[in-house]
Amino acid sequence: MPSSHDIPDTGPFSLAAARARDANDSLAFMRGKFSLPEGVIYLDGNSLGVLPKGTADRLARAITEEWGEGLIRSWNDAGWIDLPHRIGGKIAPLIGAEAGSVIAAESTSVNLFKTLSAALTLTAGRRKIVTEAENFPTDNYIAEGVISQFDKRHELVTCDHPEDIIPALDHDTAVLMLTHVNYRNGHRHDMRQLTKAAHDVGALVIWDLAHSAGAMPVELAASGADFAVGCGYKYLNGGPGAPAFLYVAPRHHGKARQPLSGWFAHKAPFDFARDFTAAADISQYLCGTPPVLSMLALDHALDLWAEVDLTELRGKSLALSQYFIDLVERRCQGHDLTLITPRDDDARGSQVSFTHPDSGYAMVQALIARGVIGDFRAPDILRFGFTPLYTSFEDVWRAVDIFAELLATRSWDTPAFHRRNKVT
Ligand SMILES: *Cc1c(COP(=O)(O)O)cnc(C)c1O
Repeated sequence: MPSSHDIPDTGPFSLAAARARDANDSLAFMRGKFSLPEGVIYLDGNSLGVLPKGTADRLARAITEEWGEGLIRSWNDAGWIDLPHRIGGKIAPLIGAEAGSVIAAESTSVNLFKTLSAALTLTAGRRKIVTEAENFPTDNYIAEGVISQFDKRHELVTCDHPEDIIPALDHDTAVLMLTHVNYRNGHRHDMRQLTKAAHDVGALVIWDLAHSAGAMPVELAASGADFAVGCGYKYLNGGPGAPAFLYVAPRHHGKARQPLSGWFAHKAPFDFARDFTAAADISQYLCGTPPVLSMLALDHALDLWAEVDLTELRGKSLALSQYFIDLVERRCQGHDLTLITPRDDDARGSQVSFTHPDSGYAMVQALIARGVIGDFRAPDILRFGFTPLYTSFEDVWRAVDIFAELLATRSWDTPAFHRRNKVT
């Protein structure tokens, strides 16, 4: 049985080799911009990103000065009113979007409701919404909700495998709604190919970028995508419950109707007109007053990207996840772990998942107790996220070292580690 004692002192699987990779990492300087707690190896930035240094001071200033002193004047003087657009402008280059086509607002779920509803108004007569059965549940729940509110004639078609998607598209398809990188196994779709396949049958495409934005370059405009949504609290480090974002291709601006037509979606909110006239630009997808404090945390976190080359980001992300796979396969053999993440770089996002037949939850809890934070996704998935801005190769090495020891000693197999928490 392998144990933490058969670690080579030299060669590619040694700690020295991990440190050498960190020394050569062009993004290593970014780690210092985050407040990583002592004694923690954080492999869950795909679920909640780490606190950037400076966010706490920025929020303190917003509270004591902008709110405390400026009061209502700060909507203008501190630029609060422009936050949804300003943040959208910072996210746009990360997702390959045109200027003026992205806003920050609400949650991913709500933004999906808005964009899917809008897409259906542009595809009248077509009945099908095609997606994946293993999509993140909220996406498919929202689609069911949209169908129930719309005209009840629509049907959610859920594909079981990625290769079933293109054959499911036909001239009755209104919308192809997909998550770019799957939250369970980390499989990444080919955005260009699938967008084209949907357009070839006259359907529109909505991409959920929850596990892509901030993890890799995304090419929304170059792919011809119609709509997109994504999270602010995962790879974008906006903080717990951070506002999400929403993209609408410029060619659709002013064409569709989105049903959450609050006053911020009006062409002139402060005219206080009696009747609703939608804004002709991306503002049409706003709803009501933005949560300023949460917006400011996200706004601050996005400034970190000014120094990041997205091609280097993707290179490091793939290197970290490949390294993790290699180390686990070398050092954690014989414990019933099955890799479910694609080995092919093109088909892999920025996470690695293994299944275990019955004890994945307890193993993850035992890892967390030792400071290695990943997460568990029912029914059987151990999930590890790699965030290139602050995860080091030494982190990966140490995480697997601890994992190998836990497995070899079975120290994960205690009642406490089997007890389920509310959030897994
Ligand atoms: C994390 C995630 C969400 C989260 O949606 P919320 O509205 O922020 O809760 C939605 N979709 C996908 C694919 C996700 O991974």
